[in-house]
Amino acid sequence: DCKTPKDVIHAIKEHNIQMVDFRFTDLPGTWQHFSVPVRLIDEDLFEEGLGFDGSSIRGFQAINESDMLLLPDPTTAFVDPVLEVPTLAIICDVYDPITLQPYTRDPRYIAKKAEAYLKQTGIGDTSYWGPEAEFFVFSDVRYGTYPYQAFYKVDSPEAWWNSDKDLGPNLGAQIPPKRGYFPTPPTDTLQDVRSRMVLALEAAGVPVELHHHEVATAGQGEIDLRFDTLVRMADRIMMYKYIIKNVARQHGLTATFMPKPLYGDNGSGMHVHQSIWKDGVNIFWDEAGYAQLSEAAVHYIGGLLTHAPSLLAFCAPTTNSYKRLVPGYEAPINLVYSQRNRSAICRIPMYSKSPKSKRIEFRAPDPSANPYLAFASLLMAGLDGIQNRLDPGEPIDKDLYDLEPEEAAHIKNTPGSLEAVIEELKADHEYLLRGDVFTEDVLDAYIRYKVTEEIDAVRLRPHPQEFVLYFDV
Ligand code: GLN
Ligand code: MG
Ligand code: MG
Ligand code: MG
Repeated sequence: DCKTPKDVIHAIKEHNIQMVDFRFTDLPGTWQHFSVPVRLIDEDLFEEGLGFDGSSIRGFQAINESDMLLLPDPTTAFVDPVLEVPTLAIICDVYDPITLQPYTRDPRYIAKKAEAYLKQTGIGDTSYWGPEAEFFVFSDVRYGTYPYQAFYKVDSPEAWWNSDKDLGPNLGAQIPPKRGYFPTPPTDTLQDVRSRMVLALEAAGVPVELHHHEVATAGQGEIDLRFDTLVRMADRIMMYKYIIKNVARQHGLTATFMPKPLYGDNGSGMHVHQSIWKDGVNIFWDEAGYAQLSEAAVHYIGGLLTHAPSLLAFCAPTTNSYKRLVPGYEAPINLVYSQRNRSAICRIPMYSKSPKSKRIEFRAPDPSANPYLAFASLLMAGLDGIQNRLDPGEPIDKDLYDLEPEEAAHIKNTPGSLEAVIEELKADHEYLLRGDVFTEDVLDAYIRYKVTEEIDAVRLRPHPQEFVLYFDV
């Protein structure tokens, strides 16, 4: 619970820390780090910063202007719960060493600016975020060391269930297709692993609300964090991914946040619950509204639905994301809202009647997203909805996977590819530029990265299934 550099120095002594690890997030959303022996750590470092080479960081600087500075944020310091050597980790902000200004492509800076913009609009002073990031845990026994072998060994849960020859007899601990949610052990083989993940998260100062197995056959899990403000929650999602992957590794397992590792089974989403508060009051609540939603909340939803196609460039930002956003797996396929329906992109949870807990759940995001950019873009879209009184249309409480054709014809779908949403982002991004939250420069850098390193990299390679289909043409 550090607040100042002095607190950090104190924590270093108190916990016998030997190494301090400095972390920041690259543009696609992966933590980067380097470590400094504790002898070199003092209070000045929090003002002077630490230099590093930004040229090899994805989405950052060109080689000719690659010197960058990290300024550690003392409020983020935590004793790393997975390393053997006593290590204090600190999340940092990225700065330009020449201008001494925050770096405009630092995702954390973008998230901070989104929080500031909310205040500037006067609509609210605080936003609360509750992401539910799902993940898979693969074991050597089932899939070999590398998770991608899953693709070559079995191409559906049924094939996996029937493949006793490879796996040995079923001793009662294998889950049938789509029945992972949620029998007790021994069917759930990951109870203790998830519990260890939760203990490590809480030890690092990340409060958890619950953990459970998810619907997919092969070791899909979910750990839900207690809601918090935007930047803090994005920091926590970075800690979450790091801790889950490392605790899995300590058990000889591999955790992945890839949205759709298995054909024919549920993918991993990161539903994002959100609400806006002003002067201690949740402005999304109105007892008289549909699903107890206020007019502001309905317009916020209007913003999310209107901008959903371009928002997905940040919320479902990988080529693999679009293998998840298909009918039949509790992932959203329609741009509508509903108080019940899990096939709608926007759901209003009805578990609680308390004004404090009124929130909307946006279900399109998945855990391949950079959380800073995803939350910031969602907030900007929702605020645009409130400012311009955008109309989300009528709520639909039916099963959207199973609509009559005439009805389905009126409803827009989630786009079908990363290419499509990148095109949407090129056409629809004014709402992101307000308050200088996103800049043209960062949008260009992001789009360039996604097109060359991901879209083209996948599009230009022969796909394994093409050999099945076409090798003998
Ligand atoms: N795995 C589903 C998704 O992809 C969600 C399942 C659930 O949480 N009900 O979004
Ligand atoms: Mg959940
Ligand atoms: Mg879930
Ligand atoms: Mg959910």
